[in-house]
Formats: sequence, structure tokens, C-alpha cells
Amino acid sequence: AKPDAVLKVDNVRRDFGGITAVNVDHLEVQRGIITALIGPNGAGKTTFFNLITGFDKPSSGRDAKWSFDGRSLGRTNASAVAKAGMVRTFQLTKSLSRMTVMDNMLLGAPQQPGERLALSLLRPLWSKREGEIRGKAEELLARFKLLEKKDDYAGSLSGGQRKLLEMARALMSDPRMIMLDEPMAGVNPALTQSLLGHIQTLRDEGTTVLFVEHDMHMVRHISDWVVVMAEGKVVAEGPADTVMADKAVIDAYLGAH
Ligand code: ATP
Repeated sequence: AKPDAVLKVDNVRRDFGGITAVNVDHLEVQRGIITALIGPNGAGKTTFFNLITGFDKPSSGRDAKWSFDGRSLGRTNASAVAKAGMVRTFQLTKSLSRMTVMDNMLLGAPQQPGERLALSLLRPLWSKREGEIRGKAEELLARFKLLEKKDDYAGSLSGGQRKLLEMARALMSDPRMIMLDEPMAGVNPALTQSLLGHIQTLRDEGTTVLFVEHDMHMVRHISDWVVVMAEGKVVAEGPADTVMADKAVIDAYLGAH
């Protein structure tokens, strides 16, 4: 057991027809560090993200349990998970691409019960709270050097800028843990360093980071801990330099990198 695990997962399984996509007996994520979840295509990484963030439900048959910060999350939905402080990024979808950068940010703001935040395109509602939320969005956009793009369509951003926007949107709810889905996918080399820097800054500010990534350079460069998944199971884990130097693990699960 990890001394200060913020996320604890037990017996989480998900089947799709005859395929067992995820079958994790036990996994803990340590608070305040950067953990990478790696593994070959189809290993179950995305499905695992979906399960623990409440976007998918485990298949029955095992006693699935997971908790975040001591709070059981097993039967809660995605918004309850986000409210508990665990927030994930999403790849920018077609519909989000057609919205402005600012509207994407507003969607990341946590909603109060009964509240539907007016999107600027639909209903400009300058309540006090909306003003605060916009102010926060602008601060985050400035931090990620996207402020001057706030009225542009998100679809007009470069690959790296989209990744920054995904992160900025996730930070709208002040998460204690942020889960990044392939933060390096489609990022051109000019933005790589800046993206890595932003992720390290988050960790240094005390946010726990869990990310799925195929870019082994990035995994080596910024992870404190690496978890290897294959065929739905955790097959190895350890400090990044140990796991990434383990030839048996690399050959068996990751191929040449
Ligand atoms: P990648 O690195 O390619 O993103 P991954 O590790 O994220 O892969 P998953 O996308 O979680 O892996 O897929 C795990 C397995 O579950 C695969 O065999 C996949 O085909 C299957 N799978 C995932 N989602 C579904 C679905 N909605 N319906 C049917 N099968 C699915």
C-alpha cells in the first residue's frame, strides 16, 4: 500500500461482449505526484479512466470499489466524481470545436445544484457568479497563453493549444487530481516543453496528476511513477526510471520505444 494514496481502486472490471477490457484487482495512486498509465493499444487505459470517473459503469460480478480522498465513489456519477475533486480531460470533440475557447472554459465550471450556466452564445447573463467564473476562466487562459484566443472557435487552435485548453478547462473546478488523456497527442515540438512545464507546475502546486500516454519520451521525462497495463490488468509498476529501464517490461508490453 502507498503511504498517501489519494485514489484506491479494487476489483474493477468491465466487459464488452466477450472482451474483458479492464480487470484491475488493486491500484493506488499516490497523492501529489505525476503517475503515468501506459500500455499497448487496447490495454484498457481509456476504459479504466472512464470507469473511475463515472463515465462508464463496471460490469457486475465482482465487488468493485474505488475511493478518492477517503470517499467512496463506486456508485456515483461523473459530476459527483468531479465534485469530489477528480477531473479528467477530454479530447476536443467536434461539437466543442464549434464553440469558442471561452465557452469551452465555461463548460468546465462546476455547476451549482439547479443552476444552468448561460453560455455566451445563447444567453448573455451577467450574474455575479458568471462574472466570477469568466474572471477565473480568463486567469487560466492567460496562464496557458490562450487569452487572446478566447473568442476564437476552439477548432481553430493548433494541436498543442487544444491540449492546453483541455487542461485549462479541467482546472476550472480546482481539482485535487487531474487525469490527462494523451496530453502529448498531436502536439508539435514547439509546444512540447511548455506543456510538460505546465504539468510539472500543477504537481508542484499540489495537484495529483494521472495521465495516459503513448509518448515514452514524455513518460520518462516527467513521471514520478509508472503503471503498466496490459489486457486490462496492471502488469508492472514502479518509479519511472526503474520501470522505463526494465527491458522485460518494455519488450513484453510496449515494443520498441
Ligand atoms: P489505446 O491506447 O489504443 O487508446 P486503451 O488502452 O485505451 O487503448 P481501451 O480503449 O480502453 O484501451 O480498450 C480496451 C479494450 O476494450 C479494447 O479491446 C477495445 O476494443 C474494447 N472496447 C473499448 N470500448 C469499447 C466499447 N465501447 N465497445 C466495445 N469494445 C470496447
